[in-house]
Formats: sequence, C-alpha cells, structure tokens
Amino acid sequence: MSLVVMKFGGTSVADTDKIKNVAAKAAAKKLQGHDVVVVASAMAGVTDKLIGYLKAITPNYDLREYDQMVSTGETANVPLVVQALKQAGLSSESFTGMQAGIETDNKYSKARITKINAERIKKALSSGKICVVAGFQGYCPETGDITTLGRGGSDTTAVAIAAALKADVCEIYTDVDGVYTADPRIVRNAKKMDVISHEEMLELSSLGAKVLVSRCIELGMNYNVNIMVLSSLEDKPGTLVTSQTEAIMEEMVVSGVTSDKNQAKIALRNLPDRPGIAAELFTKLAEANVNVDMIIQNFGSNGKADITFTVSNTEFSLGKDVCKKLYDGISGVKMEFDENIAKVSIVGVGMKSHSGVAATMFKNLSDNNINIMMISTSEIKVSCIINEKFNELAVRVLHDAFLGNEDDVGK
Ligand code: ADP
Ligand code: ASP
Ligand code: MG
Repeated sequence: MSLVVMKFGGTSVADTDKIKNVAAKAAAKKLQGHDVVVVASAMAGVTDKLIGYLKAITPNYDLREYDQMVSTGETANVPLVVQALKQAGLSSESFTGMQAGIETDNKYSKARITKINAERIKKALSSGKICVVAGFQGYCPETGDITTLGRGGSDTTAVAIAAALKADVCEIYTDVDGVYTADPRIVRNAKKMDVISHEEMLELSSLGAKVLVSRCIELGMNYNVNIMVLSSLEDKPGTLVTSQTEAIMEEMVVSGVTSDKNQAKIALRNLPDRPGIAAELFTKLAEANVNVDMIIQNFGSNGKADITFTVSNTEFSLGKDVCKKLYDGISGVKMEFDENIAKVSIVGVGMKSHSGVAATMFKNLSDNNINIMMISTSEIKVSCIINEKFNELAVRVLHDAFLGNEDDVGK
C-alpha cells in the first residue's frame, strides 16, 4: 500500500461542485488501496478578496493580522472537502496547519516550515481516514500564532507533508495538465513536458512560472519527493518533477521560458565609491525584510558608483523608504524608481555545455525592439529586465527562438 498526497489549488476547489469532484478523486485513490492526504487551498479569489479588505482599511496593515485573516480561506474550505467525502461514504477528518503539526518560524506572511509533528495525521491515516489539511498555513510555537507560507504556499504544505510522511508521490492538481515549456496562457504552442528535473523546475518557478511555488521544489529536492503536476479536470498524464532526470534533460539547451511581472527596479546613482556603501544599503534592506533579487554595481566617474537592484512589487515601497532614509538630501545622489518592469528568463541545464545561448536571447529581443535594462546569468539560466509592456511579446519571441515553431507562436 502506498501513501499519496493530493493537493488541489484554488481553481480546483472554486465552488461546491468542484469540491465534490475533488472528493471523488480522493475517494477513488483511497478505494484503489492507497492512504490519502488531501491538501486544499482556499476557493479561487478568496485570498485576494481577504487581502483587499485589509488594504481597504490601510495599505500598511499588520502582518500578524494578515496571517490571522488570510489563513481563514483555507480553514473554511477543508471541512467542505471532508463533508463531500463523508457524503460519498468515506471516513475523513479536516486539519488546520496547527492541527497537522506544521511548525514555522515567526516571519508572518512568508513563514518557513521548521518542523512537522505528523503523529496526529499518521494516527488518522492508520484508522483509515482520508486526512484533509488546510494548505498555506502553519503556526509558530514561539509566539503561538498562526502563520502563512507566502502566496501559493499550499504547494509547500503538500510537499512538506509528503516529505514528513515519506509519501510515494506528491500530486499537485491544478488548472493546467502539467508543466509546459512556457505559460500556456501566453504561448499557445507551448509543449507539455513529461518530466523535468527539480533543479530546472526550481529555476523556472523562482523566475515566475507560477504552476509550482519555488519553495515546494526546494523541499522536493532536499527530501527527494517526486512531484506530479496534473489537471484536476481531465484525466491525462501530467509532468513528473524529479531528481532522476539528468540524462534526459541535458539534451535540451533551453527547456523553458518564463517571466515575472512582480518586479520593481531601484537605481541609485552617484553614490560615494568607497568600501561599505553596498554593505550599508543591503544590510538596511535586509533589516527591513526586503528581499533583493538582481543587483548591478558599476563604477561611475569622479569616485562615484551606481547601484541598481530589483525587488518584488510587494516590497517596493518598503525598499523605497529604506533608500530615501539613507540618501535623501545627500548631495549628488539620484534615485530612480520603476515599477513597470518584467523579468524574462530562459532556463535549461544544457546551457552548462553550450555557448551562444545568451547571445541568441539578446539578438531575438533586439530584433523585436525590446530594450534590455539589466541582465543576470547563472549556469542554467539567463534573465533580462525589460519594460513590462513587452513581457508577453518577449516570452513568445524567446519561446519561438529556442523551443517553438514560428507559425504557431502567439496564435
Ligand atoms: P493553483 O491555484 O492550482 O495553485 P496556479 O494559478 O498557482 O494554480 O498555477 C497554475 C497556473 O500556472 C496555470 O494556470 C498557468 O497559467 C501558470 N503557468 C505559468 N507558467 C507555467 C508553465 N510553464 N507551465 C504550466 N503552467 C504555467
Ligand atoms: N490561497 C493561497 C494563495 O492564494 C495559497 C494557495 O492557493 O496556494 O496564495
Ligand atoms: Mg499555485
């Protein structure tokens, strides 16, 4: 007998009919003889709606209260799945993150799981129950508070539980039937992958492919969890995300194109060019809990230096405040802030052994009059910051250049 974790995202549990469909899938799995843990998200749109209420009261809401509130979307959904399972004649019980033993650190709104005390779930499974766990939430033992794991965090809950229970597979059911070479909503002729390595999927997710949240792939990689991305609506083969793919994947130079519009750029010009300037800036940003993504430092003229960096849109205003506090009124220093940017990236382990990939990327962007503002590379990816208005065009052009067929692109 095997143990399967089945995670259903917001669109898959968006109304009571869809919840009945989820229950039918979980019931079928149980009747095949597997132990089953279901992880469910909030109904589609509910988390955004709850955040909207908070923002309507103040844009500077308290993150403890944010967690307390947004976790309710998932909390309210799991009893519905349990009731639907009971209607189908199965034994089932719902669990909040806390009841499932999911311990986190104290970083409200982006907490990391530190430990899972899985005894209660194990006991329920051994008594034949289908356990239905609220995704996206945990609790911090130090404060006794509910925490959330960052947007899209139900994927993280699912893989973490799969790791803790040593499940045979973690199935992620969503509104697409697998991982594609680009977001199929942007590139119509994107191709579904049968298999992708954890390493490449981690890059694709951290660079914007929202089909899986990057933290869940890190866990999958560290605890060797096979993740299967599947459609919750159609019975089709999905995409396996695993560590056992090196041989297959190395044949591909570029395996995916992705983009991220949740980016903002801060450029600081004419900073004094002396040791400690970058250390001071990035320490202050870290103290304010601002995660910095790309960084470019360049020496200017007359003992001055320029630093440009990117942050997520959600942390943009915090980042701006840090810079203004440091540099407002300092003679000659100029600050530029730009929210209308996107990061477009190509990913592929084959890049390790192929030259000219970055050049092809830059040429294709320039042929389409897309200006590159910043570039960053690693062994298996190249990313460019561009104007947000060219985001979708850039993804199509690059997919066409590396993976596609010109005639189909963007149709
Ligand atoms: P869920 O609510 O089930 O967690 P998400 O909206 O978080 O679902 O993720 C699914 C979405 O991810 C798809 O609808 C698709 O538009 C998007 N997506 C982005 N990049 C990719 C990709 N490379 N392959 C498949 N889907 C992708
Ligand atoms: N409901 C949360 C969100 O919308 C978590 C999730 O769906 O994974 O971000
Ligand atoms: Mg998601």
